Amino acid sequence: MAENKKDIRALTKEQLREFFVREGDKAFRGNQVYEWLWQKSAHTFDDMTNISKNTRQMLEDNFVINHIEVDTMQRSNDGTVKNAVRLHDGLIVESVLIPTSSRTTACVSSQVGCSLDCKFCATARLKRMRNLNPDEIYDQVVAIDKESKLYHNRPLSNIVFMGMGEPLMNYNNVIKAIEKITSPEGLGMSPRRIVVSTSGVPKMIKKMADDEVKFKLAVSLHSAIDEVRDTIMPFNKTFPLKDLREALEYWYAKTKNRITYEYVVWDGINDKRKDVDALVKFCKFAPSKVNLIEYNPIDNGAFQQAKPEAIDMYQNILEANNITVTVRRSRGKDIDAACGQLANKS
Ligand code: SAH
Repeated sequence: MAENKKDIRALTKEQLREFFVREGDKAFRGNQVYEWLWQKSAHTFDDMTNISKNTRQMLEDNFVINHIEVDTMQRSNDGTVKNAVRLHDGLIVESVLIPTSSRTTACVSSQVGCSLDCKFCATARLKRMRNLNPDEIYDQVVAIDKESKLYHNRPLSNIVFMGMGEPLMNYNNVIKAIEKITSPEGLGMSPRRIVVSTSGVPKMIKKMADDEVKFKLAVSLHSAIDEVRDTIMPFNKTFPLKDLREALEYWYAKTKNRITYEYVVWDGINDKRKDVDALVKFCKFAPSKVNLIEYNPIDNGAFQQAKPEAIDMYQNILEANNITVTVRRSRGKDIDAACGQLANKS
């Protein structure tokens, strides 16, 4: 019965080796199959051409290979590609390929939907929620890597965990996926080219520091004033800025890696001098960089991008305080692939 079969990709390499030994085969067979599953992304046992027919049948009888399917793919005028990806249980997540002249970046999802409730984000409206498995995260990267080679003649260079979901609420699976992505037995990418973006879960930021992770950290701050952040990111009431700041100081003390703050300036919400002053103060706790990101409207009118003068004020004051700041334009807006738009209309 297919339902009773186990997903073979849930097994570690060691478990696969042990399985073959129990079956009276060589442990080495486990290495071969593992390579097919991860490095070569085989979707069927029949793809495994250096494995005997009998062994392939035996695997077929015992296991399934769960894998994602790119359900629909949309290409934007600016070269951005958005994949709606179907998981083995029929649920959909989205991932995006963002090309620039010097790099191609995959923006991947870590959860179906999101348990947080950021008022400006389309993903927050999805009801259904589950964590993605490590292989479901890994497969999104493999799919984008293929598209990068196909459309831009170069492999993927960077990965950002800025798709659907809160990566630190699915920490173990995200870590396992990153292990596969960075392993020579997977994609062999450098962890320095991976950014995990979080709304700020203090306990998990400390755990990342303790685990001595090698990837980079971005925090979606959007306000350094509790009363403001409480209204736009309600979980801030549970994890107030004081706790976030303390966790970030801990992160920096342990890793010596600077922190990037993602920050949208909205009209009438965080566009005043006091908002910038609070941000400058917050940035002084650990070396940091601020990305001022453009707001991508989701259907309601509650949030509007701030006036250019407000963005200029932020930029000038941050720079005057020796804080690196970049102003980012959005990509892929025409296909709802920009930050916070994933799940819009789909
Ligand atoms: N949960 C993680 C990652 C997903 S969101 C996090 O919060 O960081 C990825 C980024 O998009 C975050 O910085 C988020 O604040 C931002 N974002 C969400 N909605 C947006 C919108 N409508 N316009 C612009 N940025 C948005």
